[in-house]
Amino acid sequence: MRKMWTAKCSQCDHRFRSYSRTDMLANIRKHMWKFHEKWMKARMKAGRLAGGPGNPTTGMVMTALAQGIPIAMALIRLVRKPRWGRLETAVSSFEPYMKPEMRAAWQSVKSIKQIDIRRGG
Ligand SMILES: [Zn+2]
Repeated sequence: MRKMWTAKCSQCDHRFRSYSRTDMLANIRKHMWKFHEKWMKARMKAGRLAGGPGNPTTGMVMTALAQGIPIAMALIRLVRKPRWGRLETAVSSFEPYMKPEMRAAWQSVKSIKQIDIRRGG
């Protein structure tokens, strides 16, 4: 018996069924563009922004911290105040798992960024 692929639209509960996964994904994409164009565009925009300049992911910050303060600072300097709050919380939650030198780098980066923000950066 051939496997039947099924899926449900995350936006309107429309059901999709197909014998081919490729066909099903194509049908979903068609459906999304036809009925949820606005949502698709918002999602694409969000995808483009994540990881872009001024919006590093937690993983990017961790990698930069492991490479040293100057590299981490170059990445963090581009982050604007509204994003910084969320990023700081996210990265800080990993503090217990950081190596001591990485944690020290993170503390320095945080205090430098705090000064930047107070100056309006
Ligand atoms: Zn739908």
